[in-house]
Amino acid sequence: MYSSYVASNFDYCSALYGSASLALLAKLDKLHYQAGVICAGVLHGSDTSKVFQCLNWKTLSQRRNEKNVRIMFKINKRNVAQYICDIFDKYRNPATRLLRHSMPYNIPTNVSIRLLKAPVLNIIKQWNNLSQLIRELPTISSFKNAVRSTILPNINFIPTTKLNLTRSNEKILNRLRVDFFLKEHFFSHNFIGVTDNKCPCGSLENTKHFLLSCPRHTDDRTNMITALRQNNLLYDENIYTNRNDQVKYLLYENTLSRDSQNLLLNIVLNFVRSCYIHPLRI
Ligand SMILES: [Zn+2]
Repeated sequence: MYSSYVASNFDYCSALYGSASLALLAKLDKLHYQAGVICAGVLHGSDTSKVFQCLNWKTLSQRRNEKNVRIMFKINKRNVAQYICDIFDKYRNPATRLLRHSMPYNIPTNVSIRLLKAPVLNIIKQWNNLSQLIRELPTISSFKNAVRSTILPNINFIPTTKLNLTRSNEKILNRLRVDFFLKEHFFSHNFIGVTDNKCPCGSLENTKHFLLSCPRHTDDRTNMITALRQNNLLYDENIYTNRNDQVKYLLYENTLSRDSQNLLLNIVLNFVRSCYIHPLRI
């Protein structure tokens, strides 16, 4: 709902308002972040990039950049009105000499900072920064995909909103993914009432300890491992030798079919729920 009906409004005329001051743009960023916190079901204060990563959202700045270079692509293909092409054509590099790194447009050096930040030169700068390979792609769809994959490297990541999880499980998973669920996380965020970052067993209560080694949850963990093994979903310990990779597999594995991924995550989340759910956390 947010992506379709609200975020699209932020894109409207973004090529023009994108040159506004950082203080003004930060106000919109704050709204986008708050929407991310609500959609992901995570706690306010969660790391911005982790929240957007677990939702597979772009930041507003990335959305603006993507839109700007798309405009430039259309201008270069002459798919816009002539008067718009004329505005940009006067900055086009005549390329009288064959240079290895020649830019398609020249940005004048003798202009004020204010003009440099103005929409036209701002868009040209972003276009110049794109690789030649992407700039010269033949179709808008291939261009869009190439640009998107540079902005979101993990483009095939499936966010929890597209998985078959209950809302409560979705919140647990996202809070684990953004590292804001366990005692160490609360302690590092200076939560009132959290006086240390230790698990009652004495170790640091972080995601790795909780999922893989805390002796307080050995029985529940054995049940989880058994269930994963029975469904052929347990990681291969010869490949996933590193514990960080094992945690990544349990929380992020993305190469399985959608059904297997749902099953894997539901088994892991059953483990989390059987260990404990703090009433304040979910
Ligand atoms: Zn422990």
